[in-house]
Amino acid sequence: MPIVLGTVHGDQQMLLQPVEIELVRAAELRIQWSGGEASVIPLVELRRACPCAACRAERELAAVPTTGLPTIAAPAQQRLQAQASRAELVGSYALRIVWQDGHDTGIYDYPLLYALGCAHVKSGPRPRPSAE
Ligand SMILES: [Zn+2]
Repeated sequence: MPIVLGTVHGDQQMLLQPVEIELVRAAELRIQWSGGEASVIPLVELRRACPCAACRAERELAAVPTTGLPTIAAPAQQRLQAQASRAELVGSYALRIVWQDGHDTGIYDYPLLYALGCAHVKSGPRPRPSAE
């Protein structure tokens, strides 16, 4: 049986409690879940999936083809965006990531982190990075 941490709202919730969270600031977030699985989420992907309102709006804009020039951050800025300063727990349901560029409004709830991470647990060697 998995160890239950915090309040339990159902079976699914119980399996989605992290028992160990490790932030490798320039590389990845590692989470050991109470259900026994482990997630390793590259920070680049974590930042790309930032659930805050500002980033969601930015992604929606990016998804719309326009005739304007693409807005691509400078390399130095991109590096800061993909490195985390720290991570802190928000209640018993989420994790806030503070990024090197000062962005700290993204609150990743556990189901989101699990969804971001499980692809890597199941799929063996990571595919080469490519355009989506
Ligand atoms: Zn954001």
